[in-house]
Amino acid sequence: MHKHHPDIHDVVIAGGGPVGLFLACELRLLDLSVLVLERSEDPHSPLKRMPFGMRGLSAGTLEALYSRGLLDEVVAAQRANDGADSTAKTAPWMEQPRRPAGHFAGIPFYHDDIDTSKWPYRLTSPAGTSMAVALETLETVLARRASAMGAEIRRGFSADEFHASGEEVTVRAGGETFRGRWLVGCDGGRSAVRKAGAFEFVGTAP
Ligand SMILES: Cc1cc2nc3c(=O)[nH]c(=O)nc-3n(C[C@H](O)[C@H](O)[C@H](O)COP(=O)(O)OP(=O)(O)OC[C@H]3O[C@@H](n4cnc5c(N)ncnc54)[C@H](O)[C@@H]3O)c2cc1C
Repeated sequence: MHKHHPDIHDVVIAGGGPVGLFLACELRLLDLSVLVLERSEDPHSPLKRMPFGMRGLSAGTLEALYSRGLLDEVVAAQRANDGADSTAKTAPWMEQPRRPAGHFAGIPFYHDDIDTSKWPYRLTSPAGTSMAVALETLETVLARRASAMGAEIRRGFSADEFHASGEEVTVRAGGETFRGRWLVGCDGGRSAVRKAGAFEFVGTAP
């Protein structure tokens, strides 16, 4: 039977990936009520763990995590995972004499190639300029923080349709209806919310 939730949230976020979860924390800082609807029932997946789930965090992301007191937690959680994962220690790129900093279109570059003093928009912080983390680790830390701050996270709810009228948005997800004053689509690169809302895609196709 279709279930309708009468209570209204200030913000409904479709998608509990890194962006949706970080946003949930930010909105809770402003004391707004937040509901995160995440399609996957299970937050764990081999695709989110090393090696497939490896994500390089950029300087801007590290600064954002640092500014919210999350960076130490991410580092500690990743170290704990590295300890449990022998491949992290033996990866050949970790043993190169020059420390890899990333790549652009497959062309590698190294930390000693980077002059961070030339970055005009960087805040002064001890956060560092890059770090590798497993997507699952990042999401676990962010979900824990969002829940502790009072955001409601509901898994197994795929936001498929929404209807905006006047002061509120009604969202259909997993056969249930949720209400919010705002809906934010944080549902990834093929965003269903973007398509349902007919928002223009600004960017470059793959
Ligand atoms: C192989 C690979 C390597 C990558 N490497 C890097 C890297 O090194 N550095 C980097 O910065 N980025 C990297 N990226 C990109 C990075 O993963 C994304 O930029 C990042 O995950 C975006 O976060 P997000 O929260 O916006 O979206 P996502 O991580 O895609 O999360 C979206 C969430 O929304 C959920 N969802 C989807 N549809 C719905 C719906 N209709 N309703 C409810 N929930 C929904 C999904 O289950 C998911 O949990 C890589 C991506 C891939 C695939």
